[in-house]
Amino acid sequence: MVPVRVVVVGAGVVGLTCAVRLAEAGHEAHVLARDLPHETTSAVAAALWYPYRALPQDRVTAWSARTYEVLTELARQPGTGVQVRDGVELLGPEAPDQPWWRAAVPDLTTVPDPAPGYPHGWRLALPVAEMDVYLDHLVARLEQAGGTLTRHWLAELPASGVVVNASGLASRALAGDGTLSPVRGQVVKVAQTGVKEWLIESSDEERPLYVVPREHDVVVGGTADAGSWNLSPDPETATAILARATALVPALRGAEVLAHRVGLRPARPAVRLEAVPHPDGESGGVVHCYGHGGAGVTLSWGCADDVLVAVEELLESVRR
Ligand SMILES: Cc1cc2nc3c(=O)[nH]c(=O)nc-3n(C[C@H](O)[C@H](O)[C@H](O)COP(=O)(O)OP(=O)(O)OC[C@H]3O[C@@H](n4cnc5c(N)ncnc54)[C@H](O)[C@@H]3O)c2cc1C
Repeated sequence: MVPVRVVVVGAGVVGLTCAVRLAEAGHEAHVLARDLPHETTSAVAAALWYPYRALPQDRVTAWSARTYEVLTELARQPGTGVQVRDGVELLGPEAPDQPWWRAAVPDLTTVPDPAPGYPHGWRLALPVAEMDVYLDHLVARLEQAGGTLTRHWLAELPASGVVVNASGLASRALAGDGTLSPVRGQVVKVAQTGVKEWLIESSDEERPLYVVPREHDVVVGGTADAGSWNLSPDPETATAILARATALVPALRGAEVLAHRVGLRPARPAVRLEAVPHPDGESGGVVHCYGHGGAGVTLSWGCADDVLVAVEELLESVRR
């Protein structure tokens, strides 16, 4: 296949992963982004592999499975920022035996009474990406494969050539998609106090609790406020998050607070991954890839594979 010049709009985890996949497949990938990687929603992510607030279940399971494989492989390489850690999701009496995304992970054990008040839980090993390091790893790979990253705000998507739209929540404006909406998430970063395992407790839909240890710190969340655009951390919410987390993970007691962060998850009834040829016989088109909700990291490599296929099909149809 003749190399194609592709403009990728967005430098979050979705845009960068797509750009790396395209560049490493031999295409010219140029990322244009209003916010550079460390300024994006992706930089706020916890970022534990976990299919959360993203649909439809069948595609999400397949994309997540692929990403699990890739991230697990990256965890074996130094400097990627990815680690694989054991952990447990605490469940109430109503929970099913297995999660709907069970097929995406190689091993999962149901454990009885993992904590007081929780009759069972799911124990499994999951990748965690330390986003400060991982986003830099993606940029380095992109540049090594001949791609570029440029800060550039676009008032609209390019109307010619091959474009990947990975602009996250901004696709409300850029793609005119009113079905996208924010699900606000607040987290507290604390210094490491020896926490080794991740923990999730999500019985309250608006207050999912997660503790995600990394090398030097622990990300503790969180919230899921549907429809909220508020990017300011709320001190009372932070106190409540830490109190709930400490009750389940006593090692967090007294941990030094390093930062308060808020991000807006790009929620949509279903992830949009589809190619739309430009109208009026103009060559090329737009491959939309946005709406990953609370699972942009989790879906990233699976979606990037499909974006590569869509880009190459778009080009084939133009050549015909
Ligand atoms: C608190 C919190 C915790 C999370 N935890 C996890 C987790 O544990 N695991 C997980 O998988 N996911 C998690 N997520 C979800 C994850 O962060 C998102 O799904 C992901 O960041 C979406 O990535 P994206 O690349 O689509 O969007 P973004 O990261 O928002 O990037 C969008 C890019 O598009 C650019 N852009 C927008 N408009 C324009 C324009 N007009 N011109 C040029 N560029 C433009 C932006 O500047 C940016 O570079 C979490 C989210 C939050 C808020």
